[in-house]
Amino acid sequence: MRPALIVVIALCLSTPATAVEDSRVPGGVAIIPVEADARPTFNDKPVLTINDNGQHLAVVGLALSLEPGNYILQNKGEQIPFQVMPKKYLEQRIYLKNKRHVTPNTLDLDRIKSESQKQRGALNAFDGTLESIRMILPVEGPISGPFGKRRFFNDQPRRPHSGTDIAAPTGTPIKAAATGRVSLIGDFFFNGRLVVIDHGEGLKTMYNHMDRIDVKKGQVVAQGEVIGTVGATGRVTGAHLHLGVILNGASVDPKLFIPEIRSLPQ
Ligand SMILES: [Zn+2]
Repeated sequence: MRPALIVVIALCLSTPATAVEDSRVPGGVAIIPVEADARPTFNDKPVLTINDNGQHLAVVGLALSLEPGNYILQNKGEQIPFQVMPKKYLEQRIYLKNKRHVTPNTLDLDRIKSESQKQRGALNAFDGTLESIRMILPVEGPISGPFGKRRFFNDQPRRPHSGTDIAAPTGTPIKAAATGRVSLIGDFFFNGRLVVIDHGEGLKTMYNHMDRIDVKKGQVVAQGEVIGTVGATGRVTGAHLHLGVILNGASVDPKLFIPEIRSLPQ
């Protein structure tokens, strides 16, 4: 085979050069070529751009709540159209003994409101410089709750699942998926003990239901560094890690960033 042909085949076989998979569905990611000095925004929020082997790409997070249809990536007056296709996520029915986790009381609702404001602030931030978009799997274990499932708690409809649940015993160390700065720590009504790591330019990972937190807010953690342990805090039926990946304020499917998730037992 001639060398030129081998190169062509190699280029065709390599998935989008980036470590992220393009998936233009609600809960997915659109990877769109842009010019070198682009400052793209989507729904008025700044969007991550990466330089991938000389190619500049906008990496746009698509919220689970997004209706399928035509959308525009704005870039300094330029409009780049793209399409979001429908995706049907499966249903998940969960039965909880703690009824307050299904129907919170008035005091719980005040707490939930203030916690969700803090969380939204941390997840919508767009600061710092992204070191690398490559992520590692924080915990090994079977997937006990895939991303995007439409959930019913004790038969009552609730928001779809915004992360991937990985089952592991309480006390299992959790590694940072990528280098970043700890931007939020809490002990929340639904999410339990949690850590948010801001990787820069609107990309974050979130770790919920932890037993122990070993990092402090503002601390810089390296990829693979242990940030705490798996637990069963908050609204859970058993010990697991809920891993969230957030991009321009949208929770997106972690398996688009961590291909190993696709090979775990589900
Ligand atoms: Zn979860």
